[in-house]
Amino acid sequence: MAFEFIDAQLAQRQQDGYYRQRTCIDYERDGVIAINGQHYLNFGSNDYLGLRHNQGVLQAWVEGLAQFGGGSGASPLVTGYSAAHRELEQVLAEALNRDAVLLFSSGFAANQALCQALLAEQGDIIADKYMHASFIEGATASAARLRRFAHNDYTHLSALLSKTTSSHRLIASEGVFSMDGDSPDVAQLVASAEASDSWLMLDDAHAFGVTGEYGLGSIDAYQLSQQQCPVVMGTFGKAVGTAGAFIAGSHALIDYLVNYARHYIYSTAFPPAQAVATLHALSLVTQGAEREQLHANIAHFRARANQEGLTLMASQSAIQPVVVGSPTRAVALSAELANRGLWVPAMRHPTVPKGTDRLRITLSASHATRDIDALVDGLLLAQDSILANADPSEHDAD
Ligand code: PMP
Repeated sequence: MAFEFIDAQLAQRQQDGYYRQRTCIDYERDGVIAINGQHYLNFGSNDYLGLRHNQGVLQAWVEGLAQFGGGSGASPLVTGYSAAHRELEQVLAEALNRDAVLLFSSGFAANQALCQALLAEQGDIIADKYMHASFIEGATASAARLRRFAHNDYTHLSALLSKTTSSHRLIASEGVFSMDGDSPDVAQLVASAEASDSWLMLDDAHAFGVTGEYGLGSIDAYQLSQQQCPVVMGTFGKAVGTAGAFIAGSHALIDYLVNYARHYIYSTAFPPAQAVATLHALSLVTQGAEREQLHANIAHFRARANQEGLTLMASQSAIQPVVVGSPTRAVALSAELANRGLWVPAMRHPTVPKGTDRLRITLSASHATRDIDALVDGLLLAQDSILANADPSEHDAD
């Protein structure tokens, strides 16, 4: 029978506690999501600045639609590249102090395109162990040899670098890590790249819009020159509140990607209206009112959680994980929180390493102080309730 493994693989996922199902959001208003007729405070979105529902951003979408229509109509090298895309690229390049910027439909595509085009013949990719799946997939599919250094371990990075032989080396890390919320020591990464004549690439999906004086991510936070960090990838689907992604770098790099990045060349450009809305959202990011609120919310959550004795990770970002350690307990805790009107997704292996299954709390500027207090209270109650109901003989299969 063809593809007979499908049923068996699904059954295995069920048995291991890793089976995944989508949750359909019926509607969302003022940070409250409705699912199957129930309402929840949303602590699962990456909309860190609450810009998805910003009136100015919505208005910009509408103006973009009126001017350019609903879609781009073609791939960028045919007729899909509009004045709206060009303006967004130019504004971003200038803000980031880079020669040029190229827009992609998603961060997933941008990471894949970068790895495949830049390392099309040979080379070495030395990536932090916790890099996002989109990068790792791209690296694996490229012609380079992929080596992964232990998370934020620069001694290990140096050891792996010393084993590389090619003259095309790409060191890769993230500005803010998507599951732990922590950041690398960027000075160490820059030093390693300089010492080994490698290129440094940062995936700024969770840093762009959040870190730095103007919210422009790692380049802004660490004042990274183009030479120090020749490749930065950022996304618009998280803090910026729209969708899509970009790669920023030298004229030559961007021109090379326009010519060789298959995910760019053979994919319909994202709607021009999205570029108009993103440009407006970007102006709000740099102005900073929402960022200030987000950082106040992060500080409030951490202070209250610490006060109540909850164990947090070192993260200072909008991503505040609570590690539970087993997939079944993470799911039970998430369900218990949902019973209390709090939507906090559980993250399980293979999204996170085995044994570090967790709740991934994401904070947003749109949360009120009372929402965050409700979250901390809910976490304490849910923990107690799970402990009270736990069967002492119970062990997770993993
Ligand atoms: N990189 C990281 C670190 C991410 O967390 C994500 C999204 N989960 C991506 C890349 C992919 O970006 P997008 O959602 O725009 O495809």
